Amino acid sequence: MMDLGLTDKVALITGGIRGLGRAIAEKLAAEKVKIVVTGTNEERARKAADEISSAYGVEVLGLKHDVSSEESTKEVVKSIIAKFKKIDILINNAGVTSDGIVMTMKKENWDKVINTNLTGTFNCTKLVSKQMLRQRSGSIVNIASVVGIIGNVGQANYAASKAGVIGFTKATARELAGRGIVVNAVAPGYISTDMTSVLSDKVTEEMLSKIPMKAYGKAENVANAVLFLVSNMCQYITGQVINVDGGMAM
Ligand code: NDP
Repeated sequence: MMDLGLTDKVALITGGIRGLGRAIAEKLAAEKVKIVVTGTNEERARKAADEISSAYGVEVLGLKHDVSSEESTKEVVKSIIAKFKKIDILINNAGVTSDGIVMTMKKENWDKVINTNLTGTFNCTKLVSKQMLRQRSGSIVNIASVVGIIGNVGQANYAASKAGVIGFTKATARELAGRGIVVNAVAPGYISTDMTSVLSDKVTEEMLSKIPMKAYGKAENVANAVLFLVSNMCQYITGQVINVDGGMAM
């Protein structure tokens, strides 16, 4: 098997207890990365950590986290440094939707999505990159969305948050490029997870008609792109967005 240079690295995957984050956590755990998964509930985070640890034989920490809170993110970073002494990889994956057309969208639904998806990415990048700067190395991958590139009816808040994540990726990539830290984004299309399971059959069918490859994506497709971006196969690449979307946004 090819050595991707990931053994004993430490990765924080926000929202890593289920969905895409969980698939990313398992993909990295299979490469012997020490994993930290976070989620909104302590018990579920611990349970996910135990499951990943027993399946892959690596150390895994499961922590309660609210990415939209700087204080909560500080606590998470403190716990990781206390246990593992370093952070090599940050995957800004935690995200939410709260759909509705803009004319009737409540301010609280706008704020919730922007605060989690965009401000959460800011909070984690700010606090983790400080540690990476001390180490003079690191890989950050932000999970954006195809919706941040082409928009979607009923998702103005989500599209704005993910377009913001893409701009944030490019700005931070420029800021950190000279310090050994690379920052890239992955923009998934329609991937089957809890987030998409709430969509109606009609929306789901309409979505399929817009995918040139005529199939929904799998969480593993996204995890593979992330694996490439954090591995030693990824060199001289920063500030880029890789679409994993079956050709939806080309
Ligand atoms: P899920 O809803 O399945 O999982 C979201 C995860 O984020 C959960 O673990 C959840 O924690 C966590 N989370 C939510 N809010 C917070 C918060 N405030 N602080 C910390 N963790 C939080 O979503 P997906 O796996 O589908 O999505 C993962 C990412 O991929 C998101 O950023 C999403 O926008 C993006 N994406 C997904 C696509 C898809 O088709 N599925 C397409 C394009 C992008 P808990 O389990 O405790 O609720």
